[in-house]
Amino acid sequence: MIGSDERNSTTQEVADELRRRSAFVMVSHVKPDGDTLGAGLALGIALKRLGKRVAYFQQDPVPRNLRFLPDTSFVSREVPADFPPDALYVFCDMSDYTRAGEFLPKIDRANMLDIDHHLGNSHFGAFNFVIPSECSTGTVVVHLLRELGVEIDREIATCLLTTIMTDTGGFMHSNTTPEVLELSAELIRAGADKEEITEEIFANKRVAATRLLGRVIDEMTFAHDGRYCYSFVDDRMLAETRADGEDTEDVVNVLRSQEYVEVAALFKDIEGELRVSLRSNGRVNVQAAAKRLGGGGHFRASGLTYHGSLKDAFAAVESALVAEGL
Ligand code: AMP
Ligand code: MN
Ligand code: MN
Repeated sequence: MIGSDERNSTTQEVADELRRRSAFVMVSHVKPDGDTLGAGLALGIALKRLGKRVAYFQQDPVPRNLRFLPDTSFVSREVPADFPPDALYVFCDMSDYTRAGEFLPKIDRANMLDIDHHLGNSHFGAFNFVIPSECSTGTVVVHLLRELGVEIDREIATCLLTTIMTDTGGFMHSNTTPEVLELSAELIRAGADKEEITEEIFANKRVAATRLLGRVIDEMTFAHDGRYCYSFVDDRMLAETRADGEDTEDVVNVLRSQEYVEVAALFKDIEGELRVSLRSNGRVNVQAAAKRLGGGGHFRASGLTYHGSLKDAFAAVESALVAEGL
């Protein structure tokens, strides 16, 4: 139930706060995906329709496959200098504000709203609206739009359907409930172009990305009777295939979808940072495994940043997964 977590504000309390403030900064997480950005854009556009001032803060550039979304030309790694001190910073799709990156200016907790669907969200805001049962942060935002009485027009619907299609893997993951499909139908009726979204976020693969995928597949290792599959990407592989970090996004799902594989891990050792993506078929809780190493996420999809060598990361992640029942 919405608001049943006592650390959450109610839908009405959050809507009242949104009505009360005049300026907003929508904040998305580093290495942005269609959920963090789409949720912020949907709510940002809705607030503009209500006459509010809205800016979008995102440390990293808008990924190529999300540039089709409305308002992305306003996304910046700076907050406009003339923004009022009581602007509300709306963090979308992150279990802690640190996921917004180190470029984010220091913000009083009183000016933080945390909208999310991750397990283990730290409830870092003065206002928290966290619903882990929702498939995307975008569908959490829908509760607020309904409370505010904002019409879901074509632009907002496009952003919202993008959040759903991103976080359900194009309606394939287990979070694709009948309610999600009903809402998606409503969004398509409101003008969201499902075919365009599919094409933009799932097709359009660069040849470099496919070459990189080939290299990652060559490096696949299977363990635990074939239940665990892992591989890695490093700077050399990127240079040799002319791919970049954005081209690694879906690769971990290929590893998870191999026969008998229950848990997959992709180690991304890129530009001095080692990020690990974990995926599960639903038996092992990879959010709990990631949390052991300082990361987080969802039961079936999680991630972490590892401080150490690739070899040590392989061992540490495997131990964490074993501790969670691999
Ligand atoms: P990814 O593998 O990057 O697609 O991330 C999968 C899930 O794990 C997403 O829900 C992320 O928000 C979460 N996640 C990834 N990296 C981290 C991290 N370093 N700390 C907390 N959560 C993370
Ligand atoms: Mn996300
Ligand atoms: Mn999400």
